Amino acid sequence: MELKCVGILTSGGDSPGMNAAVRAVTRAAIFNGIEVKGIYRGYKGLITGEIKPFKTENVSNIIQQGGTILKTARCMEFMTIEGRKTAHDRMVQEGIDCLVVIGGDGSLTGARIFASEFNFPIVGIPGTIDNDLYGTDTTIGYDTALNTIMEAVDKIRDTANSHDRLFFIEVMGRDAGFLALNGAIASGAEAAIIPEIATEQDQLAELIENGFRKSKNSSIVLVAESDITGGAMGLAERVKNEYPQYDVRVTILGHIQRGGSPTANDRILASRMGLAAIEALLEDQRNVMIGIQNDQIVYVPFNKAIKNDKPINRELLNVLRTLSI
Ligand code: ADP
Repeated sequence: MELKCVGILTSGGDSPGMNAAVRAVTRAAIFNGIEVKGIYRGYKGLITGEIKPFKTENVSNIIQQGGTILKTARCMEFMTIEGRKTAHDRMVQEGIDCLVVIGGDGSLTGARIFASEFNFPIVGIPGTIDNDLYGTDTTIGYDTALNTIMEAVDKIRDTANSHDRLFFIEVMGRDAGFLALNGAIASGAEAAIIPEIATEQDQLAELIENGFRKSKNSSIVLVAESDITGGAMGLAERVKNEYPQYDVRVTILGHIQRGGSPTANDRILASRMGLAAIEALLEDQRNVMIGIQNDQIVYVPFNKAIKNDKPINRELLNVLRTLSI
């Protein structure tokens, strides 16, 4: 199929590096003689028609910026067939004949449904700090968030060391433990409590029964947000009830994890994936997410990327356990 005009949008939770991806998609398209239209506020802008032609200058000076210049939104209307029909009509009207969606699990689910309903070519780019998409080793924003967590934990450690305390630091992840586990390794924390192994073992009981690090009087534990484990608040509640001898403190890192200038790794990943998305469309690929595996670009069918749970690397559990004695 000859491509004339590609639409680009960012959707769902923002992540550092999305701008680098927007830049890469725009420039790669223009390089290949394809027009670009920027769609604002994710699927919402597709429905309301908040769409603007993009030239190379529109993406100048954004590679280093966190957030997304295209804005992002959650859009309930796109969950309905009527909403998606309006979005399709809008694209036809705008002359957009293919779409690049940068976002997480939810955004790619919407993309998959839309693509099959209207037989519309869509390529996805994994933009989420959670790293929870199957078929790609990492997602855009994950490395930056991990570094932010590491720096925050370093700061908390200074105060933690001045008291005899147990610190639970909750990090994002939406039921994925990648940030918690790797954040714990990178910051030298005592443990990570993650949803992936919650059904196999009571991680809190194990932590307490094994005793904290003997050489230190304070302990830092990274906790992935999760309904399965109860997150940092739920675990602190359990400590108060079951192990009242411990003085427990909770810090929820929250949205600082999403902000900031993307790391070199995220900028490079976003640049590679943005170019790959346009190449995929030119090769007539559709309904695929761009992934990276062993430093090679791969195409992952939407179905696989969304439906499968991405497993945690268990070697990392061992690294953390061994090094925190
Ligand atoms: P993320 O992409 O970060 O996972 P969300 O889960 O909030 O973020 O999804 C972003 C948007 O994607 C939603 O607001 C909605 O517009 C669209 N979306 C998510 N799931 C579906 C679905 N099942 N059907 C249609 N659209 C969906």
